[in-house]
Amino acid sequence: MCGIIGYLGDKKASEILLRGLKRLEYRGYDSCGIGVVEGDRLIVKKGVGKIDEVSKSENFLEVDGKVGIGHSRWATHGGITKENAHPHTDCKEELAVVHNGIISNYRELKEELIKRGHIFRSQTDTEVIPHLIEEEIRRLNKSHISQEEYIEAVKRAIKRLEGTYALLILNKNFPDLLLGVRNENPLLLGVKGEECFLGSDISAFLEWTKDAILLEEGDMVILQKGGNGVDYSIYNLREERDVSSEREKIKVDWDIETAEKGGYEHFMLKEIMEEPEVIKNSARVSKEEIEELARCIRDYSRVYIVGMGTSLHAGMVGEYWFSKLNKLVIPCDASEFLVKGIVDEDTLVIGITQSGETYDTIKAIRYAKSKGAKTATVVNVLGSTATRISDITVMMGAGIEISVCATKTYLSQLMILYRLFIEYGKIVGRDMEIFEREIERIPGYIQEVIEKRESIKKVAESLKAKNYLFISKGINLPNALEGALKFKEITYLHAEGMSSGFLKHGTISLIDENMDTVALVPPSTSELFRSVVSNIEEIKARNGKVVAISPVEIEVVDHLIKIPEVLEEVSPFLYAPACQLLAYYKAVELGRDVDKPRGLAKSVTVE
Ligand code: GLU
Repeated sequence: MCGIIGYLGDKKASEILLRGLKRLEYRGYDSCGIGVVEGDRLIVKKGVGKIDEVSKSENFLEVDGKVGIGHSRWATHGGITKENAHPHTDCKEELAVVHNGIISNYRELKEELIKRGHIFRSQTDTEVIPHLIEEEIRRLNKSHISQEEYIEAVKRAIKRLEGTYALLILNKNFPDLLLGVRNENPLLLGVKGEECFLGSDISAFLEWTKDAILLEEGDMVILQKGGNGVDYSIYNLREERDVSSEREKIKVDWDIETAEKGGYEHFMLKEIMEEPEVIKNSARVSKEEIEELARCIRDYSRVYIVGMGTSLHAGMVGEYWFSKLNKLVIPCDASEFLVKGIVDEDTLVIGITQSGETYDTIKAIRYAKSKGAKTATVVNVLGSTATRISDITVMMGAGIEISVCATKTYLSQLMILYRLFIEYGKIVGRDMEIFEREIERIPGYIQEVIEKRESIKKVAESLKAKNYLFISKGINLPNALEGALKFKEITYLHAEGMSSGFLKHGTISLIDENMDTVALVPPSTSELFRSVVSNIEEIKARNGKVVAISPVEIEVVDHLIKIPEVLEEVSPFLYAPACQLLAYYKAVELGRDVDKPRGLAKSVTVE
């Protein structure tokens, strides 16, 4: 996720914005910028590259005003260019906006605004926001508007936005005012009497105040300079009422490092806790690209998904989804693809790579291209190699992941594939409504799982074996493989994943007090449920210890991690966080370097 910082007070805003942006640097970004009102001018400075470099070359600190907004961008729509960096302005360059998130209906809005004569300067989704506000102001048809009229115009504009957003809005005609909106992307208010701050997280303003107010979805913060410093009020756009007195105030006693981790001990846990939010982004991003790719999946007779590690596991879940629609989509270890992939002009190769730089996946995509195949990539980093060499780029919208071990990006990849499954189903005339409805519910299901983290921690701490098996059957088999991968990656204990059916064909002879099993039991409505339970019984008959991740009680098991009962097609979203938390707490108990496991790199760019 990108970083946002806003300031209204009595100090030089550019200095505060620059320091705030530096604090948010750990979140990752590709470009940055600030907007400040100085006298009667709105000054915007921005560029591609490191904050220090851009600040130096653009001379951020020469700007003198006392109200401003800053942004470090993690591009989702539009390449990494100076024009696409934030802030974005309206036609008259009177107001500036910074945005974190995705405006999913931006194409329609942009078309409408262009018809009304608005001139766009960037390819971002964000730029529709200042123009929409400008349009609402124009409609009032007055040469001067009051502050109240301006705020009402902003509210009307925001109500037209679909998607996820944290926004800051600055207007040179109202230099004593700063507006912020939170809708499914993080934004916090920092208060300190004579000055107020808005930031993507507490670390953005921790240097100046430890008093923060937690905003809720739909909140619009109105910061206003008055006789006694800066006053704030909070209006909730969903409930259409003032909620200022209801929002929780906290005093943080965190240091900067803890603040960056959102108060959690590790980035990995923070990133798992972000999964419901990330999934909402991934449910909205890349609409047109998903439609295009779904059409290609229909049109090409051979379809491969190539990836490595966690990305390959996501692709394997995809195979099960598509098989329900009678479409063969073959997941393939990208490093094996050149050996066994059958590629011609009637082949579609979809690469999944978080970083867009994974060596083997890039090589597989290049190979596919050289054979005349159509190529696509599901990726988290715009401008990465994969996006440059593929015919279709589908952005995941997961934001940066700092922990080496992939957690929220896996869920995000699953969401993109789930949407492809739905889109493809619709194209081939299936009724996909039952699955489509679930998209809105999935974040809530994940929330239920991660709220069980204390009990998952207890289970993790009770496991004493040196070896672990992760088993399942059906669409959660890839999650068993992923669960084992996560577990060994950060605990350094041996773990293997396999189908519960395969177990009997050799591995079961290893079951003893040194080999515990984690069973991902399918939803009880699944025809596979009984089969996995009987495999568990076979393990118990050999005195093996079993942890079941299951929506229903299973008598014979030693520990149960209970997850909500959902449609089988939706269940992969729930087993994954449960496995991630199990691995996390075991690794913490063993004192491992959770965020940077030995010998591993976030992005594997070598063969
Ligand atoms: N979607 C916006 C863009 O691509 C904001 C990205 C962000 O959150 O940094 O510019």
